[in-house]
Amino acid sequence: MLVLSSPSGAGKTTLSRMLLEAEAELEMSVSVTTRPMRPGEVDGKDYIFKDKQEFATMRDNGELLEWAEVFGNCYGTPKAAVSEALVGGCDILFDIDWQGTQQLRESMSKDIVSVFLLPPSAKALSERLKTRAQDPPDVVADRMSKASDELSHWAEYDYIIVNHELAESLQELRGVLAAERLKRRTGLAEFVRQLQADL
Ligand code: 5GP
Repeated sequence: MLVLSSPSGAGKTTLSRMLLEAEAELEMSVSVTTRPMRPGEVDGKDYIFKDKQEFATMRDNGELLEWAEVFGNCYGTPKAAVSEALVGGCDILFDIDWQGTQQLRESMSKDIVSVFLLPPSAKALSERLKTRAQDPPDVVADRMSKASDELSHWAEYDYIIVNHELAESLQELRGVLAAERLKRRTGLAEFVRQLQADL
C-alpha cells in the first residue's frame, strides 16, 4: 500500500498518473468524496462522487478503510476495492491526506509505505494552484492558507521527495516502490526452498 501525500498543488495527481502508467502491477485506490466534480473529472475514475448522506451511510456501515474531512468536504477510501486488489497480488497507490495516512498506519502498519511530496517553493505551489484554474479563487486561497498545516506532517512519512522536476520525482518514487517490494520478499521463501531442493 503506497501512500502519497502532499499539500494541494505540489504535483501529486500528475505524479500518481505517471507512476501508474509506468508500473503495471500497481492500481489506484479511487476515493469517495462529497466535493463537487471539477471540469474534466470522471465519476468512478478520479473519484466516486457522493452526497453527504450517501457518504455518511458508507462510513457508518464500515465500508471505508479511512476517512477525513479536508477543506470542508469528506473523503474516504472504500474497503472492498483495496481488499480485492491486495488478494489479487496487486500493489495499491493512495492519494490521501495526512489524517487518512495516520489511520492506515494504525490499522495496517506493516503494509504501508508512505511518501510525502514537497513543492520546490511556496511560489511554485501558489502558481500551480492558480494555473490549475479548476477551483474558484476562494477555494484556491483556502488551499494556500492550509498548505502550511499540511506541510507540518512531512516528518511522519517514510520517504520525502522534493518535486523539483516531475521526471526526477518519478524516478525517485519508482526507486522507493522497487526497494520496498524487494524488502517484502514476496514469494521468495518458496523459491529458496526449491533452490535448496535442487542442490
Ligand atoms: P482534491 O480535492 O484536491 O482532489 O483533494 C484534496 C485532498 O484530499 C488531497 O490532499 C487528497 O490527497 C485528499 N484525499 C483524497 N482522497 C482522500 C481519501 O480517500 N482520504 C483522505 N484522508 N484524503 C483524501
